Amino acid sequence: MTKQRLLAPGPTPVPDEVLLAMARPIMHHRQPGFSKLFKEVAEGLGWLFQTQQPVIVLAATGTGAMEAAVTNFLARGDRVLVVRGGKFGERWEEIARAYGFAPQCLDVEWGRAVDPAAVRRALDADPSIRAVLWQASETSTGARHPVREIAELCKGRETLSIVDAITATGVFEVAMDDWGIDVVVSGSQKAMMLPPGLGFLAASERAWKARERSDLPRYYFDLAKERKSQADGQTAFTPAVSLIVGLREALAALRAEGLPNVWARHERLARATREAMLALGLELYAAESPAPACTAVRAPKGVEGGAIVKRLRDRYGITIAGGQGKAKGVIFRIAHIGWYDELDLLQGIAAVEMALADVGVAIERGRGVAAAQKILSAP
Ligand SMILES: *Cc1c(COP(=O)(O)O)cnc(C)c1O
Repeated sequence: MTKQRLLAPGPTPVPDEVLLAMARPIMHHRQPGFSKLFKEVAEGLGWLFQTQQPVIVLAATGTGAMEAAVTNFLARGDRVLVVRGGKFGERWEEIARAYGFAPQCLDVEWGRAVDPAAVRRALDADPSIRAVLWQASETSTGARHPVREIAELCKGRETLSIVDAITATGVFEVAMDDWGIDVVVSGSQKAMMLPPGLGFLAASERAWKARERSDLPRYYFDLAKERKSQADGQTAFTPAVSLIVGLREALAALRAEGLPNVWARHERLARATREAMLALGLELYAAESPAPACTAVRAPKGVEGGAIVKRLRDRYGITIAGGQGKAKGVIFRIAHIGWYDELDLLQGIAAVEMALADVGVAIERGRGVAAAQKILSAP
């Protein structure tokens, strides 16, 4: 017998109490009980997103919320700047192109964080840029991009800061209101400890104002319509009822832990994972600015990253992630985003050691685990 374990950056494991809540019979959404639930969840989302603005809930994955950000807050022909340092940066570019924009792409070497000075130079060079689109955490490379600094650069210009925080919400601080971020996008199946299927988006007053000039085609993702409905505890279309029921439980768990503790837990697990990999003599892909969502590790010389992923899955029942796009075969990624604790990670690290040895990498078994233990057993 082998148990199946998820250690990939989404979908992530779902806590038992969330699963049980979602197993209850379906509630009809046009009834007072649902509105009450929805309002409770809306309040919790405001807390999690650190905003007084409504957090719009969409029945879509995070990409749907990304698309909604593009179609609602930009107008045809707008100049947009995309930070392109991984697969998800490319996704912003692809969405923008799909809607007829010719985005200016600020290329960042994969595994690196964008330099805010480069963003500043691009904005200074073209003051007509209406939005900067970037990732708080570029899950495909494991790098963490600056958020506060870029949001700051957009202030005092006609430029909206639109950040994909899908692997940042509930992982590290993204203080939307305090930092003056215009649009924050997220999704359910990462740190929010839910199955895939919900997208989230919160927008500043400035962004809602910019929406008035937006003239792009849209129907399902009409955020003004959603905002109006959701203020009354309803959604414009049938909501993903079960996921919203689960969301109440997930938010309750996060609230009980407290945001600073949630962030500290992610940081601690990430640090332990990084130290474990270094102790094994491996190299980190995003060594300078690693995100606490997932750790990207360079596959050792002569070993295809996918072989490690495959061995872990087939022999040990653990699903980690390989590389995407140009990092395919080059890296493997160990997630520590969402419902993970210390022993989950030790288990994962032990399995990675075994898989590495199995595929012929000369490592000393136990070194990674010991390095992680040192960090995790400290008070
Ligand atoms: C997971 C993820 C997304 C969303 O992908 P979906 O397939 O739509 O769930 C977007 N951006 C980042 C950084 C992600 O990690």
